[in-house]
Formats: sequence, C-alpha cells, structure tokens
Amino acid sequence: MTDQIARRWTLWRLPRRALIGYPILSLAGAFTALSTIPVRSENLLPFGLLIFCAVVYPELSRPIERLRRTGRPFIDLNSVWMFAAVLLLHPALSAAVIVASYTSQWIRNRSGKAVSAAATIVAGYAAYAFLAWVSVVPFDRMPRDVASFGLVVSAGLVFLIVDSVLIYYAAPHDLEAGDYALSGSAIALGIVLAWALVDWPIILVLIVGIALALHRGVLIRQLRDQVRVDSKTGLLNSASWSKDATARLRHGGSSALLMLDLDNFKTINDKYGHLVGDKHLKAVADVLKSEVRGTDVVGRFGGEEFVILLPCTSLDDALAVAERIRRRIDNLGTVTVSVGVAAHPEHGSSLDEVVNAADLALLAAKTAGRNRTLLFAAPQAPGW
Ligand code: GH3
Ligand code: MG
Ligand code: MG
Repeated sequence: MTDQIARRWTLWRLPRRALIGYPILSLAGAFTALSTIPVRSENLLPFGLLIFCAVVYPELSRPIERLRRTGRPFIDLNSVWMFAAVLLLHPALSAAVIVASYTSQWIRNRSGKAVSAAATIVAGYAAYAFLAWVSVVPFDRMPRDVASFGLVVSAGLVFLIVDSVLIYYAAPHDLEAGDYALSGSAIALGIVLAWALVDWPIILVLIVGIALALHRGVLIRQLRDQVRVDSKTGLLNSASWSKDATARLRHGGSSALLMLDLDNFKTINDKYGHLVGDKHLKAVADVLKSEVRGTDVVGRFGGEEFVILLPCTSLDDALAVAERIRRRIDNLGTVTVSVGVAAHPEHGSSLDEVVNAADLALLAAKTAGRNRTLLFAAPQAPGW
C-alpha cells in the first residue's frame, strides 16, 4: 500500500535525473538555515496558524476541487499560506508549512506532488534570500512605507518566477495568462495575510473566505472553457466553432473554409473498436491544430468531421494548406481524409452557405475516390 502510494508520487518517477536536486536543495536549505539562523519566538503563533490554514484549506476547498480536476495543469490558491510563511517565518518553518500544505492537498484531493513541493520550498528560499539581501530587518519589523512595499512585492515575484521555472522544468505544461494572474493574486493575498498575522491575526478568517471565493471563480472559468471544447479532441465543439467563425467572417476580407471527413472510419471502429477509433480522432485533431495558425478556427463539426476557417486566406493558399494536412494525415499511416474547400464571400455570403459549399466539395472528393482535396465548383448554368 505504502509502496503503491510512494510510486504514484512524481518524485519516484522523475522525468529528468536533475530533479533529485529539488528535494536535496530543500533539505540542505532547511539544515543550513537551522544551523545559522535562530528561530524567533514571534514565529511560533504565525507558524501554528499557517500550518492550520495549510492543512484545513484543502478540506474546505474540496467540493470545488472535486469539480475542477480535469487533468489540465492548474493553479491553486495554496500559495497564500505558503508565501505568507516565506515572508514571516524562519526558512525551515516555512518549508514545514509548504510540506504540510502539499501533504494535505495530496491526502484530500490527490493533487500536489512531492517534486512540486520541493520546487516551492526552493522558491521560498530564493524569495527569503532576496529579502534578507535587500532588507536589514525581517518582514515584521519593516517600516510600512512604499520602499518596503516594493521589496516585498519583488520577493513575491522572485517566488513566482523561481517556482514557475522549477515546476515547468519538472513537467512542461501550458499555462495561460489567467493562470499567472491567479498565481500572482494568491501571492498578493499571501502578503496581506503576512501583514495581518503581524498586526491583526483574526483578519485570517476574511482571507480564507476571499481565497475560497477566488477558487470558485477559477472553477467557473474552467467550466466555461470546458463547455466550449470537445473533450475527445480538444478542438472547439460545433456550437463554439460556429460562433467564433461567424465572428471572424464579420471582420471582412476573404476567408477559406476546409471541411474534412475521415475516410472509411467506420471500418476502423469495426475492426479495432471505438476506443482505438477515438485515438485516431485525437491524432487527426492534433495534426489539424499543429498545421494551422493561431488565428485559424478549428472545430469538430460532428462525429469524424472537422471544419477549419482560415481568415484572410486566398483559395490557392487554402488549397495548399488542405493538401498539406491531407498528406500529413496520410503519413500517419492509419487513416486518410477527404477535404472540401470553399471560399467566403465567393461561394456563399453567410457561414452556413460556405459550409454547405465546402460540404458539397467534400462529397465530390468522396465520390472521386477519397483521400483527396477538392475545391467547390459552382453548378454550371445550362448552356445553349
Ligand atoms: P466515408 O469515407 O464515406 O466517410 O466512410 P465513413 O465510414 O467514415 O463514414 P460513415 O458516415 O459511414 O461513418 C462515420 C463513422 O464515424 C461512424 C461512427 O461509428 C464513427 N464515429 C463518429 N463519431 C465517433 C466517435 O466519437 N468516436 C469513434 N470512435 N467513432 C466515431
Ligand atoms: Mg467518414
Ligand atoms: Mg462523416
């Protein structure tokens, strides 16, 4: 049992050997600090309160976390206690608060990894060292002036940057600007908490409430994103694609639309099962995403059909993109795709009309033998 748990902790399956340096640095830092910096008695009450928050908060936020966990990397608000500890406490005590926070998160929500805890402890040491370097007095004795404010905020930045870089090195991931804004807010709240613990500790209750409200806000943002995205492929779902594509068309200019349908996909499902079919769908979606620009709008139209709007693109360029995508999918060696191409405004004035035109071109590509790209050809007027 213990062994199973231990193996699930990322520390035991380090993606890079150098990561063993994180826990070594954490321990070495704590021992060095204990032997060189005296623990002040003023630290004991804030230490107890911060350990209490670090342990209890994951329990309070459990209903939110249960809805929120989706496998996507995400930021949580535990830095509030952790950064307050870094500002106020002896480095070994702040390391203990960070360990308590991660352990509690792991027990409550199965989130929080040993390697991240070690990275955060090292980031805490970096922020502590920065503050000790720029200020002769500890946080609780600093004058409450603009200069001290600047130093404390800079220490927050050091903490955020070192923590982000170390955690990114351990497990590369994509974070959005909003994620960094949230990390920054948690650290800012940590500063307020550290200040409150020196002057008026009961304010802690309000800060826990604010942290929970912020946490709920993150959940709402995440749920909103989930509603837009097709979970199987990670592309926009049909409704969101239509909405975004309509908005892009309103910008004007000429755009092109690709409609793609996997060839004989039913036989893959019949032969290997739907789960293997789903893997192919995801692989195709990844190709689509990687072959287009950030401004192009890629969606899953339905079952094994995909749509791509290419704003500000000539028909020649659109055909080249379509062929590139078709060839890359062909090179996967498992599945092929037929593509219909149509243009706005030449082949339709509304999104629906252009989709229809691309769909007709797709049908023609299927009839012509599949695994090919065809451009929409308007029906010829009957000749004389
Ligand atoms: P064609 O070349 O004419 O497009 O043949 P096809 O077999 O791809 O077309 P058809 O429309 O007959 O079948 C589409 C198949 O796509 C049927 C369905 O089982 C499969 N499909 C649709 N959605 C999903 C999905 O989410 N996962 C999996 N695995 N298969 C799906
Ligand atoms: Mg098909
Ligand atoms: Mg189909």
